[in-house]
Amino acid sequence: MEIGKLIVLTGPSGVGKGTLWRSLWERHPELYLSVSATTRSPRPGEVAGKHYYFVDRQQFESMISAGELLEWAEYAGNYYGTPRPPVEERIQRGEWVVLEIELQGARQVQQTFPSAWRVFILPPSLAELERRIRERGQDSAEAIARRLQQAEVEIQAASEFDVQVVNDDFEQALLDLEAAIFSSQVASLQFKIQNSKFKKGQK
Ligand code: 5GP
Repeated sequence: MEIGKLIVLTGPSGVGKGTLWRSLWERHPELYLSVSATTRSPRPGEVAGKHYYFVDRQQFESMISAGELLEWAEYAGNYYGTPRPPVEERIQRGEWVVLEIELQGARQVQQTFPSAWRVFILPPSLAELERRIRERGQDSAEAIARRLQQAEVEIQAASEFDVQVVNDDFEQALLDLEAAIFSSQVASLQFKIQNSKFKKGQK
């Protein structure tokens, strides 16, 4: 059976992951973005079941104890997690599944799914990130402060990822992200070739 691929997209809040993802998906509708569960309240325009499954803390905690989450984290005062069954089923069917998640979740995936391909999206600078978060105008002053503090921690971990993309010029970042994701194919092909050479050498 053909086995698909798990791709993790991580980067600080406000870096433009969502916008980059939407443009990438227009070019590659075969990619599937996992819909996360969260205890955060919906922002204007967010649709339940499309952007997130909005649940309360009790519901989220029972998903954790039932082992229904592939990974989860508490981020800026709310829980976020990836429902396991849709991701595993699609990968089994050979599809490429994308998780757009924060750092703690990405680290869990590295442990449980070491073959996942992990991409980190960086802002051109922290000052530019702050400007983007404020411009979005969707978060309270307190939430902005928490997100910026978290962003500094996340950015320091960028080198843990397989590949980094800087979202400065949007079009360039989109091309870089596309190359980053599809270079995972090249990397796994190289791995297969190396592996088959190794096996031949052993005969
Ligand atoms: P936001 O509240 O801005 O939608 O998301 C806040 C952060 O949570 C973002 O960095 C986003 O990538 C991350 N996030 C969204 N869904 C998940 C998830 O299922 N798991 C984890 N670990 N992080 C998530």
